[in-house]
Amino acid sequence: MQANNNRLTGGIAELETRARAVSLLLLDVDGVLTDGRLYFSNSGEEMKTFHTLDGQGIRFALEAGIGVGIITGRESALVSKRCKDLGINIVHQGVGDKSLVLDQICAEQKLATESIAYVGDDAPDVPVLMRVGLAASVPTGHRCALDAAHMITDAQGGYGAVREIVDFILASQNKLSY
Ligand SMILES: [Mg+2]
Repeated sequence: MQANNNRLTGGIAELETRARAVSLLLLDVDGVLTDGRLYFSNSGEEMKTFHTLDGQGIRFALEAGIGVGIITGRESALVSKRCKDLGINIVHQGVGDKSLVLDQICAEQKLATESIAYVGDDAPDVPVLMRVGLAASVPTGHRCALDAAHMITDAQGGYGAVREIVDFILASQNKLSY
């Protein structure tokens, strides 16, 4: 994990303070929970691969009382299924303006943006990254997302990046059990 000191004044200590306030983790899907590549079968069916490290991390977050949700521009049944399997019940697919959805989630969950962490890797994520308490991106993210993030994971999207963020949040809150 790397702190983006252009967006932080207090380095790692500030990141931990931000992580301590988090009660909801929101995730982009493509490039964050996946490697960002879109796979299609001959019949045109879309496929994605998810990493068990991330799935387990999401379960640990939920068990620790941290909510988890997704906001994605694309729409697919397999994402709905993956969310159902993991117990994610805040699911927004086919989203054009992610910042509007953030407003909606804040209103529904009665949360301030300071208590939300968001992980995104591209331009549509930037307006959300700029607003939340803890903004994270991944090494393969577009430069605009990296610039907008407070922290950048060591792991790539689809390869445990989300687990790394969950671990950081839980450790900051003294809730990491391993
Ligand atoms: Mg993405």
